[in-house]
Amino acid sequence: MSAPDTLAHRSLASVWHPCTQMKRHEAEPPVAIARAQGPWLHGTDGRRYLDGISSWWVNLFGHGHPHIQAALADQLARLDHVMLAGFTHAPVVELSERLAALTGLGHAFYGSDGASATEIALKMSAHYWRNQGQSAKNRFVGLAGGYHGETVGALAVTDIPLFREAYGPLVRLAGTVPSPDARAAQPGESARETPRDVALRAAAALEAWLAEHHATTAALILEPLVQCAAGMAMHDAEYLRQARALCDSYNVHLVADEIAVGFGRTGTMFAHQQAGIRPDFLCLSKGLTGGTLALSAVLTTDTVYAAFYDDDVARGFLHSHSYTGNPLACRAALATLELFEQTDALARNTVLAQAIDTACAPLAAHPRVRHARRQGMIWAWDVDTPLPDFARRYHRHAMARGLLLRPIGRTLYAMPPYVLDDEAVQHLATNALAALDATLAEEATTPAPTEERLP
Ligand SMILES: *Cc1c(COP(=O)(O)O)cnc(C)c1O
Repeated sequence: MSAPDTLAHRSLASVWHPCTQMKRHEAEPPVAIARAQGPWLHGTDGRRYLDGISSWWVNLFGHGHPHIQAALADQLARLDHVMLAGFTHAPVVELSERLAALTGLGHAFYGSDGASATEIALKMSAHYWRNQGQSAKNRFVGLAGGYHGETVGALAVTDIPLFREAYGPLVRLAGTVPSPDARAAQPGESARETPRDVALRAAAALEAWLAEHHATTAALILEPLVQCAAGMAMHDAEYLRQARALCDSYNVHLVADEIAVGFGRTGTMFAHQQAGIRPDFLCLSKGLTGGTLALSAVLTTDTVYAAFYDDDVARGFLHSHSYTGNPLACRAALATLELFEQTDALARNTVLAQAIDTACAPLAAHPRVRHARRQGMIWAWDVDTPLPDFARRYHRHAMARGLLLRPIGRTLYAMPPYVLDDEAVQHLATNALAALDATLAEEATTPAPTEERLP
């Protein structure tokens, strides 16, 4: 046991850490990080950790990328910030133009984090219907296990009981329809259901729901292809095509929350593109700035935009955050988009993903692993273990081996930055497997507290 890290102890006295029961830190203080480079985090104690989950899914091209750093330094010398109401600047204009070119959604509204993007999309959708004289369409529907952020408005569509329970009275709950999670495939008489069969079954349930509730429903919100916080629940793209068609026929908006799955995580720049569809609203954040600064954006269609364009102030979208369209964050986003082009990132990722698949084959074949799966640059393995606190134990064993992985419940997953070299790939694969065996070795010896599922 090393000497108490003063930074960690001062942190416990002064900082309220997110998504954490603080008492847990009595036994295990937070890890103090001094610096980071590429996929590696370097502790104040001199140890290094491979960032296997991209620091909560935000980092794309590694930490401290020189191209993003140079862009930020240049921007800081020119313009740090100016309010975006009544003013504009080159970074926000260029970023909006580039996002429109990438998505076909020509109007970008900015926020500072993912949950605010969710709220912007929900408010815009309901306000759109109100401006159309259909103010009864003001409710929402989401997928079972969906996660769209934790502010009071976003919790309405976040179907994760642990996050919502204490705040039930504050939340105007949305409807929930079954998830198209491919793991729900049922064994049939001659063959098991395919992921597409599961998608069609979930779409039928969505149709039944919309048939009953469309008159009061503004929008369906979903995470295309991978429901990350649910435990990397992956589904067939057919569900997105069906959902798009159903939203069209029932006059309901489709909100694609690509806060986690955008920017190449699922193999394509945006996940919904694999279904060949276009959402009415697209929420982006996390990887948008390459993991450097807090920024979110909601992109929408000409049709939505036009419904707000009027002589009447109250028909406008009167929403703002102080840092809306911050020039530094927009420059970081522009530099990140440039890196996609300069490094041909999507093509390189297909090669990197093969290498990680090969290195992780023993993990996928582990006798206690179920549903080994991958979508683009997201890997997940469900672990068959009676340990309710598997996640916490695994995290500890992985950190002891210089690897940051943080399972959700009994689902172990990796969502690494796009810049792993051979050594980092081997480090990930070898230590992920070793940490699994070390965790499972504790099964016999310890009593089980209650289950925890935290991202
Ligand atoms: C992380 C996440 C959010 C919330 O973003 P914050 O920046 O944490 O508020 C919303 N939706 C999805 C799909 C996410 O993964």
